[in-house]
Amino acid sequence: MTTIDSLGEFGLIHKLSQLVPAPRHPDTVRGIGDDAAVIDTAGDEYLLVSTDMLLEGIHFDLMYMPLQHLGFKAVAVNVSDMAAMNGLPAQLTVSIGLSSRFTVEAVEEIYQGIAAACEAYNVDLVGGDTTASRTGLTISITVLGRVPKDRITYRSTAQPNDVICVTGDLGAAYLGLQLLEREKQVYLADPSMQPNLEEKAYLVQRQLRPDARTDIVHELRDLDIKPTAMIDISDGLASEILHLCTQSKTGAVIFDDTIPIDDQTYLTADEFKISPVTAALNGGEDYELLFTIQPQAFEKLKNHARITAIGYMTADPSQVVLATRAGQQTPIKAQGWKHF
Ligand code: ADP
Ligand code: MG
Repeated sequence: MTTIDSLGEFGLIHKLSQLVPAPRHPDTVRGIGDDAAVIDTAGDEYLLVSTDMLLEGIHFDLMYMPLQHLGFKAVAVNVSDMAAMNGLPAQLTVSIGLSSRFTVEAVEEIYQGIAAACEAYNVDLVGGDTTASRTGLTISITVLGRVPKDRITYRSTAQPNDVICVTGDLGAAYLGLQLLEREKQVYLADPSMQPNLEEKAYLVQRQLRPDARTDIVHELRDLDIKPTAMIDISDGLASEILHLCTQSKTGAVIFDDTIPIDDQTYLTADEFKISPVTAALNGGEDYELLFTIQPQAFEKLKNHARITAIGYMTADPSQVVLATRAGQQTPIKAQGWKHF
């Protein structure tokens, strides 16, 4: 018997992918292995398809996750995978499993959040499925998107010397989760204690209501810049840079002092006695974009307020390292499978 734990999430997906017959249809351009599947529907654009599922007790805790935010987040995490292909979302379907403790009003709140996200990301909700559940709430969303064929960006096409860039800042969603978990314990011990997270609003918002970076997809189009490879940061920078390197057959050097981290993240990491860089590397749920770009093209981006260069790709796939300015290098390892 093999435990799932011993394989890890990515090991399991790899094993499953070997059991799946190779694509039979010539219009299946890319199957398992990137942020979305890629289908050639003829014309100038590819169709993108991706699915993500959120389970109560695994991905969210209704003690602190407002239902509207949950609906919004379920859409945003799917839209993020479209952005990771350099594409934009167009349609989605929503499948929902509900146990008997949920009221009609509760489901309406979830859908208000879903509707807000459809508005924010310009997506049509075109269907889904509804079922009873014995184990609480499940939301699974499938999103369809489009990308011009000459703009599609895979994980596997980075080159040595490409500049590694990241959008926004990292680690905040993880610390938001730590805060919410701490306040939950305080509340459970003494229900008269009301949480005061006002000063931490940014971190909490990053955890409860993440945003997908479709804005960056638009900006890269406007600037006529195409990344050489891209992935969204759902599991932490460490795991995602390893995906880019494994699939592109490159190594990478990331400078620890260049990783963008918000001031609130720094302060709160200190409170929790966590290194902020560790939160950025292994925390996850930031839903920022990690991409590589040719050094010449980076000139156009180097003054961009929300894009930071954090390192470069190298030719040696065995070296994916975090470097200090003093020249110390430590291998980057994936955490993975936090939910099991
Ligand atoms: P992401 O974090 O971008 O959503 P995942 O790590 O969930 O990506 O999945 C990686 C790849 O594996 C994707 O191409 C996804 O479609 C595929 N995949 C994940 N789970 C399964 C599964 N149970 N069966 C087939 N393919 C899967
Ligand atoms: Mg992804």
